[in-house]
Amino acid sequence: MVEKNKLYTIEITDIASDGNGVGAVDGFTVFVPMAAKGDIADVLIVKVLSRYAIGRLMSLKSPSPYRTEPECPHFRRCGGCHLQHMDYAAQLDIKRGFVEAAMRRIGGFENFRCDAMLGMEKPYRYRNKCIFPIGADKNGKTVSGFYARRSHEIIPIIDCLMGDEANSRIVSAVTEYMSENGIKPYDEQAHSGIVRRVFIRSAKHSGEIMVVISVNANNLPRRERLIKKLREASGNIASIYININKEKTNSVLGSENKLIFGCPTISDTLCGVNFNISPVSFYQVNPYMTEKLYAKALEFADISDGDEVIDIYCGIGTISLAAAKRAAAVTGIEISPQAIEDARINAAQNNITNAAFIADSAENAMPRLISGGARPDIVILDPPRKGSDEKTLNAIIAAAPKRIVYISCNPSTLARDAKHLAASGYTPHRAAAVDMFPHTCHVETVCLLSKLKSSEHIEVELNMDELDLTAAEKKATYQEIKDYVLERYGLKVSQLNIAQVKRKYGIIEREN
Ligand code: SAH
Repeated sequence: MVEKNKLYTIEITDIASDGNGVGAVDGFTVFVPMAAKGDIADVLIVKVLSRYAIGRLMSLKSPSPYRTEPECPHFRRCGGCHLQHMDYAAQLDIKRGFVEAAMRRIGGFENFRCDAMLGMEKPYRYRNKCIFPIGADKNGKTVSGFYARRSHEIIPIIDCLMGDEANSRIVSAVTEYMSENGIKPYDEQAHSGIVRRVFIRSAKHSGEIMVVISVNANNLPRRERLIKKLREASGNIASIYININKEKTNSVLGSENKLIFGCPTISDTLCGVNFNISPVSFYQVNPYMTEKLYAKALEFADISDGDEVIDIYCGIGTISLAAAKRAAAVTGIEISPQAIEDARINAAQNNITNAAFIADSAENAMPRLISGGARPDIVILDPPRKGSDEKTLNAIIAAAPKRIVYISCNPSTLARDAKHLAASGYTPHRAAAVDMFPHTCHVETVCLLSKLKSSEHIEVELNMDELDLTAAEKKATYQEIKDYVLERYGLKVSQLNIAQVKRKYGIIEREN
């Protein structure tokens, strides 16, 4: 039995989906924040619950080979990143493991494997959206930065290595304007003060930047001074809004936006389609990986000329419009009327005439479309973290599409929904994990589900004697095996390791 306040030596064998290390004492699970997979560490037990305990990493007896010095000096205090203390290859392997484990444990797909894990070449400065809370320090001085782990204490870091370099200049311009004009930061406890947050969106292709300042007021005094300072901070500022948020709430933005400078939207390009983005619309935060994600989704969708496609949870129509270039017709469904307005404008601006958009919830629109006779060949869905729902999933099943491409930012709900679809014959055939959020524990997955139809599926019997395998067998050199293992598992293996495994499985060494 694990005892509170006692020190144990624990091996960290895995990383949980919230980024904490996982180990065990006599088979009892212990979660250890900040531990790396492969660490052997002295851990002080700080809490014991019925099914697991929580420990604090006190010292490393044998550090994991995956450990690395975090690039960001604030990593341990800031709550934004979870995995910076492990090298990037290990992070990718861990995230692929999250997806495969969820599909096995929740979905019941025993042999499920992701056939690709797409990572970034340079996994920094990828975010096109950053939100900086504004508050006061102990001396009453205005500060901005990021929230500390599990708290609303602001750590004054404004150059986040995941965000744009211009962000720190923009946030400093706002705080300078505040102190020069006697404008108080918002106080969460007292629900007093004015400036709550600075929200910055940048379009990586066009370079355009949108700044939204969330305030507990109807306006900001001496706006011209603020605009001047912001434009001095970056020549790329194309749009400035004041967002009115007078509610006692944690939500990032209030419902009213007042444009005080520039254009109402900024524009970006994804997969060759130009998009207008307004302050409230959902837009993927990592544009480099979004293109890879969409390319994978379109590869899985395998759209032919005459195909009809439904894109559920379509946001501003990013996937719908990329799909419309190949399909006969695309229908996008999205709950946010503002996003649908953007989607329609985006279609018109790109001269795309075969895409229609419905502003309604998926659970209302999908059953209505299908009972009205719609029979899409391909359904793409990209729900929020909570996943889809039975009404929507049942409508998809009733539509009997050839293929379902499910994009998910939460492996657990993907696995749950895939299980529901599989009960009606749609099984997951292929999946790719995509690292949209390097250094955090989040992972995006794109999964292809379909029914194997007997008319399109033929069984072939192969007689091994008829095949000349010798040439093919000899092709797998030790170097190729090493490269494969490194790519697939993030492990560097030696020639000796490979030879040992070959011997174990009776494979003739030096030949295959
Ligand atoms: N596919 C888009 C957006 C994905 S995010 C892209 O890649 O950019 C998920 C989207 O689902 C958000 O735009 C959100 O507004 C929308 N959404 C959330 N709940 C919904 C529901 N019940 N019905 C339809 N759309 C919903």
